[in-house]
This record gives sequence, structure tokens and C-alpha cells, in this order.
Amino acid sequence: MTLRLLPETLVNRIAAGEVVERPASVVKELVENSIDAGARNIDVVIRDGGQTLISIDDDGMGMSREEIELCVERHATSKLPDDDLTHIGTLGFRGEALPSIGGIARLGIASRTQDSDTGWMMSVEGGTKSGAEPTGRTKGTRVDVRDLFFATPARLKFLKTPRTEQNHAVEIVNRLAMAHPEIGFSLSDGNRTVFKLPPSNGVLFSARLDRLTAIMGREFAENAMPIDAEREGVRLSGYASLPTLNRGNAAMQFLFVNGRPVRDKLLVGALRGAYRDFLASDRYPMVALFLDIPSNAVDVNVHPAKTEVRFRDAALVRGLIVSALKHALADAGHRASTTVSNAALGAFRPAISPLSSQQHSGGAAWRGRNGGFNSQLAERLHEFHRPLPNLDASPHAREAALQQRNYVDADGVIHDVVPQDYPLGVARAQLHATYVIAQTSDGIVIVDQHAAHERLVHERIKNALEHGGVARQGLLIPEVVELDEASTDRLMARAGELEELGLVIESFGPGTIVVRETPALLGEMDITALIRNLADDLAESEDTLSLRNNLGDVCATMACHSSVRAGRLLNGEEMNALLREMEATPHSGQCSHGRPTYVELKLHDIEKLFGRR
Ligand code: ADP
Ligand code: MG
Repeated sequence: MTLRLLPETLVNRIAAGEVVERPASVVKELVENSIDAGARNIDVVIRDGGQTLISIDDDGMGMSREEIELCVERHATSKLPDDDLTHIGTLGFRGEALPSIGGIARLGIASRTQDSDTGWMMSVEGGTKSGAEPTGRTKGTRVDVRDLFFATPARLKFLKTPRTEQNHAVEIVNRLAMAHPEIGFSLSDGNRTVFKLPPSNGVLFSARLDRLTAIMGREFAENAMPIDAEREGVRLSGYASLPTLNRGNAAMQFLFVNGRPVRDKLLVGALRGAYRDFLASDRYPMVALFLDIPSNAVDVNVHPAKTEVRFRDAALVRGLIVSALKHALADAGHRASTTVSNAALGAFRPAISPLSSQQHSGGAAWRGRNGGFNSQLAERLHEFHRPLPNLDASPHAREAALQQRNYVDADGVIHDVVPQDYPLGVARAQLHATYVIAQTSDGIVIVDQHAAHERLVHERIKNALEHGGVARQGLLIPEVVELDEASTDRLMARAGELEELGLVIESFGPGTIVVRETPALLGEMDITALIRNLADDLAESEDTLSLRNNLGDVCATMACHSSVRAGRLLNGEEMNALLREMEATPHSGQCSHGRPTYVELKLHDIEKLFGRR
């Protein structure tokens, strides 16, 4: 055995193994360097997914000849002036990226500082350096990386398709761009501009929202709650979506710590905690949150790629995120998302296009949804356009019409208009035994009775738990439910918790359960189905999660089997009671799974549908 120091080239390649996992990692390191250099514009070119060329051009402070020669040396950095790892104010600090990239690819650097009248360039190919030479260029730095991994061919095999690699790079640049709206970014594949984000000059908040809109979409901007909270010197700002705007995975959840995009389990967990009552556990809100934290309270030197951080006080950060979001959600409790009514309006438009003269010129132009000619519809339209019989002629009809415009309140008083203080209006009809249609002072509201009821049950149970417990109601004849043994065991293991929620069960031999009491507030319900579903829920959920913490799901299951589920006819009184209770209940705009409980169409939108505006 010979003990020796490894040659520099080898050391750099070993370091590259950690720093440069794929082309996107090179893009990340280089764009971060440009941001650290104070660039206002950063242009990225990626050819063949970055395998043949990655080029980053910036207008930052640039490097002198000496700096260019030094920057490719191992651990050469301008970013730790005080040798203090506890105060890191830049994205880079390890002085590793350029030498690592130079060890595994053909690296070219050209740069010019503000005060110099010539630029300088040099190259490193698989670890071999050339001398610096003068070159013409404007202020700033351009770094070209060609033939990535040519010196470490084993890595090449792990590259995915150019398209996939490019997507990774796009994602990296997007993340950095979200944190730096003041910088313009562009990315091209050598032929085509993939995106171009102009620098934003506005004040931080509007600039940030502009940038987030450009990257996360207009829908996010329209359905995002602004977040701004501070605790013990840690500030949290940014935007989080209303629960009604959610995704099937966490890809649209972004966290930034002191301007650095990070991936941290803490965020996912904190978000889950904050949205627990509003979203099913497999749905994810969209968020972009920015933590500003004293640099000595966070360690970014956890991994060479610097995408993980360690907080000195993780509980503080988690608590801050959860409470800020819960507050925002409480404030937004009654805001029905525009996603929903826009979607509804969008759905109307293709079918009814009032301004198209072609469609007005005759029934034959009307087509069904699938594009085929719909003769039935044409016939019905024809029927519709026949002159109406004189309504006034029938006193009965007039009576009916009048009655429809009025409503009778709880004291039997007849009113003509909808009082302003009924935001959800007065129930006019129930359709398909599922939707309550209400008239408000300036529009109509469509309530999904099942979803609304689910939310009300959830809030009632939550409230009861906070104030001494859920009232129970004994069953005259206890209900016996047959299950498999595993389900029985699972339910019995939670019997104590279920009792807190108002459901009293007992074991009745293997595979059988007796239900003795149910939550009084649920009224009549299908107990067998409820027990079976609860058993299924328990089988799926994490064992460690207490039912109280999973209240949204449990309540949803309970509500599902109680009286107001979809398919039940409601009378006027019941419908209005539902509306009034929704108004009085926080968070009633969404059901426990993040679906809206009602949508509102304003009169002016309805007028738009009919081309009146
Ligand atoms: P680090 O970013 O950790 O300092 P790098 O290897 O990425 O390490 O870069 C080394 C040094 O090269 C930086 O500290 C900086 O001084 C200089 N440098 C790199 N890229 C640029 C750039 N785009 N503009 C100006 N200076 C740069
Ligand atoms: Mg760097």
C-alpha cells in the first residue's frame, strides 16, 4: 500500500462527482455565479440537453486577468472575505464549481471588468489549463462548457434524453429566477428561446408576483394568498394558493432561504400541517415562500450542491410557516376561488357563442359538444323560439311568477329582494338533488350540498372538540357490523379516539363490531357503510397520525354517510338553513378535500355570457 496525495486533476474529478450530477447542476453553479456577480441579465444556452454545450453570459462585475487565472483553481473564491462560514451572503462560497467543471469538461471563460478596456479568456480541458489571452468582449462574464463528462465517460451513461436534461435545467433556472425578479433571464436551446423573463423594476412585492405569475401561471397569481409574517427575526413572505387550487404532487411548492432555492422536508411537512383541514392528504397546495433568516441561524454548508439547509431552530421556522398559512387561510375562508367560476364561465362559452352570426342564422349550425350535428337540440331550439303563450292571461302563472321573486323568512314575513347581509343569498331551487341554487343581491350561487355539508360537519366537530367534546346519541338498537378481522383490530385500536369524536364501538367477537352511540350532530346515518369506510381509511392512513390530526378525512367520511349527502331532496327551509350555516362557519368556501363548496356567478358575468356586455 502506498499512501499519497492524489493529483489535482483527480481531486477535481472526485469533487465533480458530488457537485455535477447532470447538466442542470452545471447550469445551477454558473447561474449562481452570475447572480453573485451582480448581473442584471443572464442568458443561458443549452444544446442537446447540455451535453454538447452549456453557455452562460452575464453582465455582472466580471473578472480581471489574475482573477480568471485563479478562479479555476481549487477552493479559490472571492466570497468568504472574512473566512466566516457562519455569515454566508452569497450563493457560492466553496470555490469548487469551476475547477470541478474544468476537470470533467471543456471549460472556456471570457470576462471583462468594469474598469478594464480589454477582456481576458482562458480554458481548462479535462483539467489541463491554458494561459490567459486577451479577447474582446463587453463588461461581464461568459462561461462555455462543452462536451460535459467527456473526461468521465461513466457519467454519460446516466444522462437521460436531451429533452429531460433540458427540463431539469429549465427548472433550475426557473427556481433561481423566482428568487431574483430584479434579474432578467433567458434560456435557449441554441435554436429556439425556451423562455425569456425580463428584469422587473417594481418594488419587491409586485415584482415578485409578476415573476411568479410568469413561472407558475396566471391561475396561481389569481388564487394566491399573500403571506407576510415575522417571528424572532425570521421573516416569511411570498404566496400560497387557496386550497381550491391544488396539485397531485409537490412539484409546485417552492421554498427559498435567503434567496437560495432549497428542497426541505420541513416545508412539505409544515404545508401539510397548515392545509390539513382543507385538503385531502394526496393533494398539494401551490406555494412560493421566501424565508429571510439571519445567516448565522441557518447552515447552508450541508451538501456540496447546497440545496439542503439546516436550521438552528427548525421548530421556530416550522411554527412560523404553519401559523402564517393558517392565518391566511382563515382570512380567505370565504373567498371562493376564481379558478372555479372562471372554469364555469369557460365551460359555458363554447356551447353558447352569442356573437357568432353563423350560429344565429339557423338551427343547422348548432352542433353538439362533440362537434356532431345535434338535431334534437335544433328541434328544441325551434320549439323554444315559438311565441310564448300570454303569461298574463293566466292568474295562476302570475301568482307563481310572483312567488318566485319573493321569499319567506323564518318568521313568515314575505320579502321581495335578497337582503345584502345574506352573502350566499336565498335558496331558489335544488337541482339534481345535489345542487342548491341561490339568488344573491348581485348574482347567483350554486352550492354543492354534499361538499358544503362535509365542511360544516368538519367545523362542528372541530368546534365541539375544542369545547369539551362531541355530543353523542345512543342507538335504540345497537348496530352490528361485520368486517374482516384486520379491520376490526384497526378500529378497536382507535376506539378511544373514535369515542372522542362521538362514535362508540365495541368488539363483538372476531370480525364483528357493535356501534352503540353516534355523533349527535350527524343525525341519521348509514352506520354500516360509515364503519366500513372508516376501517378502509385507517388501513390507508399512516398509523402514527392521530385521528384528531386527520380530522378532515375522518369528518369527510362521517359526513359522507350522514343525511345531507348528494342525492337527498331538501326543502326550502333546509336549503336556507344550509346557506345560513355556511355563512356563519369559517372556511366554508372549500370542503375538507380542497374542492369548492360553492361557486358564485356575478350578474355581470352572466350578462357577459349572453353578450349583454
Ligand atoms: P464559488 O462560487 O463558490 O466562489 P466558483 O468555482 O463557482 O466558486 O467560482 C470561483 C470564483 O470565480 C468566484 O468566487 C468568483 O470570484 C469568480 N467567478 C465565477 N463566476 C463568475 C462570474 N460569472 N462573474 C464574476 N466572477 C465569477
Ligand atoms: Mg460558484
